[in-house]
Amino acid sequence: MDNSTIAAIATAGGRGGIGIVKMSGPQAVSIIKAVFRPCNTDVNVTTSADNGFHSHKLNYGRIVDPQTLQVLDEVLVSVMRAPQTYTKEDVVEINAHGGSVALHAILELAIQQGARLAEPGEFTKRAFLNGRIDLTQAEAVMDIVNARTEESLKIASVQIEGRLRKKVETIRQHLIQLLTHAEAAIDFPDEIDDIFNSNETVANVQNKVIRPLEDLVRNYLDAHVFRDGLGVAVVGKPNVGKSSLLNRLLQKDRAIVTDIPGTTRDVIEDTININGIPVILSDTAGMHKTDDPVEAIGIEKTLAHVDGSDLVLFLVEADHALTDEDYHIFDHVKAKPLIIVVNKVDLIREENDVDLPDTWRTCDTAFVSALYGQGIDALKKLIAESITGDTAVERDELIVPNLRHKIALESGLDSALNVVSEIQNNATTEIVAINLQQAIDSLGEILGTNVKVDILDQIFSQFCIGK
Ligand code: GDP
Repeated sequence: MDNSTIAAIATAGGRGGIGIVKMSGPQAVSIIKAVFRPCNTDVNVTTSADNGFHSHKLNYGRIVDPQTLQVLDEVLVSVMRAPQTYTKEDVVEINAHGGSVALHAILELAIQQGARLAEPGEFTKRAFLNGRIDLTQAEAVMDIVNARTEESLKIASVQIEGRLRKKVETIRQHLIQLLTHAEAAIDFPDEIDDIFNSNETVANVQNKVIRPLEDLVRNYLDAHVFRDGLGVAVVGKPNVGKSSLLNRLLQKDRAIVTDIPGTTRDVIEDTININGIPVILSDTAGMHKTDDPVEAIGIEKTLAHVDGSDLVLFLVEADHALTDEDYHIFDHVKAKPLIIVVNKVDLIREENDVDLPDTWRTCDTAFVSALYGQGIDALKKLIAESITGDTAVERDELIVPNLRHKIALESGLDSALNVVSEIQNNATTEIVAINLQQAIDSLGEILGTNVKVDILDQIFSQFCIGK
C-alpha cells in the first residue's frame, strides 16, 4: 500500500466562490500545521485538544508560505483524523477562494511540504483499498459525479448505499456455503453427507443464485441506458438539415448551419434529457462521396460513429425525391436501430405526399421541421420508446449494474447453470466444486475482492482528479 500523502484541487476549474484543496495521508496534518496560521485566537493549532486541530471542525485562518511568509489566501480548514474519513486516512480540506491561481499556489505549497499530486480517483481508490467502501460503491461515486439526469443520479444513489453489494454478497455467501460443504464432503467422504445429488440443492441454487443473478442482468438490460446514456447518430446527405435538427433538439446554436453542403466536417456531440435518459446526440459529416480530403476524414468518422451508436436518426428531405445518395446511406445504417426522420415538412402540403420505398416502411418514421419545430416532441417520444418500449420501467430503487458488473454476473450465471446441470448429470463433487469456485470468483470481481490490479487502475483512471 502506497504510504504517500496525496493532494489535489477537488473543485472544478475556472472561477468560483470557493475552491477546495484536499490532502489525504500520514503527512496531511503536519503539512497543514506548517502552512496554516489561525486568525481566531480561540483556536491555537499547537495547543488545542490533540496537539493540533480539533478533528472534524472548521478552523479559520490564512495559508502562509513558511519560507517567504507570503499570505496565499484566507481559508477555512478542516482536519479529519483517521479512521473516520473518506479514505480512512488523515484528511485535510482547505476551503479557499475559488480562483485557480490561489488554489494552484496552495496545492504547490502542499507539494513543497511533502505531498504528491493525486492521480485521478486516487482518494476514492484509497477508500476502497482501505476497506471503507467496496468496488461497486467506488464506481457509484464516479456515477454520481458524472450523472447527467435525475434518473442517472437515482441509480447511482442506490448503488452508493451498497444495495448492489448486499445483493451480490448474499448470492456469493450461498455459493460459499455450498463450496464449504463440497470441500468437506471431498475431504471427509465418510462423515459428511454428499448433498450434491439432491433435488433440494438444485432448487437452492436455482432460487438463491440463478434467479437473483438473472434479475440483475435483466435490470442492466432494462435500465442501464438511464445511467450510461443513449448514443444517437444523426446522419443524412449534406444539407438535409442534420445540424438544424441537432440545434432544435438541443435548443441552441451548437452546430454550424449553412446552405453550403459539407459544412459539418467533424463529429459534434451534446447531451439532452429525454424522459430521464441522457441522450448523447452526434451530428456527423454528410455521408456522400467526396474528393475533399478534409471531408473524407469526416465521412470516415461518420461511418465509425454510426457503428458505435445505439440508435441512428436518418434524415431525408420531404420536399425532394430521394436520391441515390439517400439509398446509399440507408444501406449503411439499415442494420442499426433506426428512425427515419423526414425533415422540412414545412415545405410540403401533406405528409402523405412523401414517397418512401416499401422496404423502409418497417422502420419508425418521424415527420419534422427542424427549422420550425414541428413534430419534434413526437420524434423525442420515438427516441425514448426505441429503447425502453412504451411501458415505463419502474426505476425508483432499482439496482442497475454497469457493463463491468453485467459481464461478471453473466459469467457467474454460466458457472451456476453448470453447477445445476452437473448435479443433474451426477457429476463428481470435485467438478461441482470447481464451478462453484468460478461463480464465487466472478461475483468477487464485482465487489473487488479478487479483481486484478490493471482492472482497478482502469476503473479509477476514469475518475476526475481530486475525487
Ligand atoms: P446539414 O448539412 O444536413 O447539417 O444541413 P443544415 O442543418 O446545415 O441545413 C441546410 C439548410 O436547410 C439550411 O439552409 C437550413 O436552414 C435548411 N433547413 C434545415 N431544416 C429545415 C426545415 O425543417 N425546413 C426548411 N424550410 N429548411 C430547413
